[in-house]
Amino acid sequence: PRRILSGIQASGALHLGNYLGALKRFVELQDQGAPVYVFVADMHAITVWQDPAKLTAQTREIAAAYLASGLDPEKAIIFPQSAVRAHAELAWIFNCVARLGWLDRMTQFKEKSGKHKERSSVGLYTYPVLQAADILLYKATEVPVGEDQKQHLELTRDIAAKFNNDFGVPGFFPVPEPIIQGPATRVMSLRDGAAKMSKSDPSDNSRINLTDDADTIASKIKKAKTDPEPLPETLEGLNERPEAKNLVAIYAALAGLTREQVIAQFGGQGFGAFKPALADLAVSSLAPVTAEMRRLMDDPAEIDRVLKAGAESAAEVADPVVDEVKKIVGFWRA
Ligand code: ATP
Ligand code: MG
Repeated sequence: PRRILSGIQASGALHLGNYLGALKRFVELQDQGAPVYVFVADMHAITVWQDPAKLTAQTREIAAAYLASGLDPEKAIIFPQSAVRAHAELAWIFNCVARLGWLDRMTQFKEKSGKHKERSSVGLYTYPVLQAADILLYKATEVPVGEDQKQHLELTRDIAAKFNNDFGVPGFFPVPEPIIQGPATRVMSLRDGAAKMSKSDPSDNSRINLTDDADTIASKIKKAKTDPEPLPETLEGLNERPEAKNLVAIYAALAGLTREQVIAQFGGQGFGAFKPALADLAVSSLAPVTAEMRRLMDDPAEIDRVLKAGAESAAEVADPVVDEVKKIVGFWRA
């Protein structure tokens, strides 16, 4: 049977990349009728410093975004990662299955740790192992993510296969498929066409947040880095123009058009014409989501009810799996 699982880190403000690359995809999969498990990755968030006074609010904000984007708590199980203890337990066992060499190859760790690898948390290094636990605890078959998570998903597949093999339990963990789909699997930063849009980018102007108001969105798009040329008349003309390519891709994704159609409409025009059109489209596309997020966050009681019920349902699936794993590993039981 199909089982969909994904998560978003409670590491700051959600942005357009998360919306197009992840949230919208979750809703589409939910609407296909498969069970969907979506969690707020608070344990992943603390791999880099999070102010405890803000982490709770950030967790609620992600939950609000799930609901505001169209996830229905009657169909999707929405829960905070840390509220289901099995995640931490299985992650430890997987730390003993995964190989150092596998983690050494992870490019996200290299990017996030930057020049100060020795000062990074151990958690940041072993994060993809916790991610494998998140996924395999629910025996998920499909994991919708953005392009940046491809390598981590491959590691999850390796861990599943090695566990099944080492302990002689073929098929115990299904090997999950990454679902990297949709028109915007890698939205780039508005300040740097070579970097992906990220919650953890220190520049707020690098991203459009789901909670930005119309003026902020317009001003960020106006300031977005571009080259001086007008938009090309053909799609090939976007090659070697990463910033222009990104803005066209965002327009296409929001409008439900192909990039060719966007170029057909705006080719030959300068950014002075294209940027205001993009800003209007971004504002009108995000406004209903933003308004619903604000409404939900005004009184967190509804969010908290959803998260609590979700944590209980998730634990009902996860706890028996981790119990079985402990038995397979040979841990003592009364
Ligand atoms: P952080 O900078 O803290 O890692 P993030 O912006 O990368 O935050 P995550 O919580 O790590 O967000 O990722 C949540 C989901 O959003 C993942 O499926 C990820 O692949 C997707 N995603 C993140 N950034 C983008 C982007 N720029 N374009 C498309 N999808 C994205
Ligand atoms: Mg990320």
